[in-house]
Amino acid sequence: MAEKIALQTLIDRSIRNMGAGIHSVVKESAIEMIKQAYKEGIYVQITSGYRSFAEQNKLYAQGRTAPGKIVTNAKGGQSNHNYGLAIDYVLLSADGKKALWTVNEKWRRVAQIGKSLGFSWGGDWKSFKDYPHLEMMGGMTLSQLQAGKRPVLVSLLSNKVSAKPIKTTPVKSSPSKSTSKPKTSTSKKTNNLPAGILKVTKPLTKGSAVKAVQQALASIYFYPDKGAINNGIDGYYGPKTANAVSRFQMMHGLTPDGIYGPKTKAKLESLLNK
Ligand SMILES: [Zn+2]
Repeated sequence: MAEKIALQTLIDRSIRNMGAGIHSVVKESAIEMIKQAYKEGIYVQITSGYRSFAEQNKLYAQGRTAPGKIVTNAKGGQSNHNYGLAIDYVLLSADGKKALWTVNEKWRRVAQIGKSLGFSWGGDWKSFKDYPHLEMMGGMTLSQLQAGKRPVLVSLLSNKVSAKPIKTTPVKSSPSKSTSKPKTSTSKKTNNLPAGILKVTKPLTKGSAVKAVQQALASIYFYPDKGAINNGIDGYYGPKTANAVSRFQMMHGLTPDGIYGPKTKAKLESLLNK
């Protein structure tokens, strides 16, 4: 049997492929994603990261004025790669010798790990699906980037999942006032989540129970809609909340059906009350 590719080899190749212009938070999050996937027997390599405008223009020419297949619709400055905020990945065979481009469960699993680390995935895009693509825009739009603005990205790596207490109380959330008062510790608080079943219904189920679940998920980075108003914590159990539940379930060995029930409740509570 061929020898398994070393984790460090995957990391080294990926760092090289991401280029020096990659944002440091994007880079360290990508490395963490590779590590987590490796533990599950999934071999990920980053194929591309930062691209200069010139490199992007060359890529744009491919399939148009230069030979090859069209691979991008973005000219220099029009891709999030040009700002060091995006990466592309591929799966490798266990020996590291073959690139596997099939978008299967393993591929989607990598995307889920990436999303839990703060990336948005091109496979979730509505119009043009870009399955290898992951990005961190920090709430910025491409036109803001083009205008010279840059996001402040926050790494999710330095936070331990169990170390972050969640807000349980307010159903009606008032905009948080920023004061200089230090936050009181809530580490001894027990977080009890709602009992019963929550799932996507017609019309949508709404209320404080849904909101509590959304807040719990968001506190461990399974945002219903990262970047949306209040990260999508709106008290409605819609498809995005179901997706967050499903991602959480998948990460924790539960059936990823997107339905909040006793097992999901127990798992969430065990993490939040640590
Ligand atoms: Zn890309």
